Amino acid sequence: MHLTELGWDSAWDELLLADSDVEYGVGRVSAEHKHLYRVFTEQGETLAQVSGKYRHDARSRSDFPVVGDWVVITSGSDQDRAIIWGILPRRNKFSRQAAGENEEEQALVANIDAVFIVSSLNRDFNLRRMERYLVLTWESGVNPVIVLNKADLCEDVYSKITEISSIAPGVPVHAISCETGQGLDQLTPYLGTGKTVALLGSSGVGKSTLLNCLLGESIKRTGAVRSQDSRGRHTTTHRQMHLLPRGGLVIDTPGLRELRLWGSDEGISSTFEDIEEYSVRCRFNDCRHQGEPGCAVMEALESGVLDWARYQSYLKLQKEMAYISRKENLFEALEEKEKWKQIHKEIKRIKKR
Ligand code: GDP
Ligand code: ZN
Repeated sequence: MHLTELGWDSAWDELLLADSDVEYGVGRVSAEHKHLYRVFTEQGETLAQVSGKYRHDARSRSDFPVVGDWVVITSGSDQDRAIIWGILPRRNKFSRQAAGENEEEQALVANIDAVFIVSSLNRDFNLRRMERYLVLTWESGVNPVIVLNKADLCEDVYSKITEISSIAPGVPVHAISCETGQGLDQLTPYLGTGKTVALLGSSGVGKSTLLNCLLGESIKRTGAVRSQDSRGRHTTTHRQMHLLPRGGLVIDTPGLRELRLWGSDEGISSTFEDIEEYSVRCRFNDCRHQGEPGCAVMEALESGVLDWARYQSYLKLQKEMAYISRKENLFEALEEKEKWKQIHKEIKRIKKR
């Protein structure tokens, strides 16, 4: 397996600040299972755990590897267990609030090129939910692609596409059916060699079925890998990032199936561009569009050009966003450099022993 097939490119080389004196490899995390990771490398897939120093230095849960992360690894003393020394800076990430009282950010997946927001064209079809997923996707800095599955169960596909397009201007929309194979070829451009797509969408819309289709085989049977942990217990790790036979990588993790909002207002603005445009004409700069005089949003609602349900959804999402403040967790460039210097040193020291 070549690293470019896993999404490696020259920009990653630069980030790594390669030190030719140090022997290490890079790999991409394909599954996360408590403190054990599966990593795709040029030599194949391996089990890995973070180094003691890594564990000690980690400041938050977000510092630990997630599916899609590029990691620096060496082979460990334990034959089939590699050591992870650090993760390369994430190009983007999908996060959620960690459970518990402190609103700690928890990254779920990293380094994705596109998100397929999967919905089904029958009962699940829901514009308000689609808005939520769009906000989440814009937030993470990734391009959304709307995939409407189960076209075989829908008699007015075109009117559904029109409805979706009205709430998501400029976002590509594809109607497909995993059952008949209709429209699947429209997804090919997003899945070129080394391109990573994450699947987002409610349960039952057909994400696993789509993945199976793209893989051309049943992953339900082949996805689970059994291995023994240090105490001899069996752990089952489900691979969550899949390499497609014709190139491209698809991430389908349980974490993405239940999401809460996280981040700044940017996602809201992109999703509700129309409302933001009206609000520019409100009399007050800080208008909350909740009954203030001279409110252009209210006017649009009353004249019917703006949909009431869409406005409600906007208010609700805005409230959630105000509640959650963005936590900057990317390292400053200098800090990053220092980190890698330390990691190189540490690997050298270990190798000398
Ligand atoms: P997930 O929860 O999103 O992973 O959804 P699944 O992949 O498990 O699919 C849920 C159900 O929808 C299964 O019974 C699938 O067989 C069915 N399904 C998936 N895609 C299609 C489709 O295109 N057409 C029809 N009719 N059923 C589908
Ligand atoms: Zn207003």
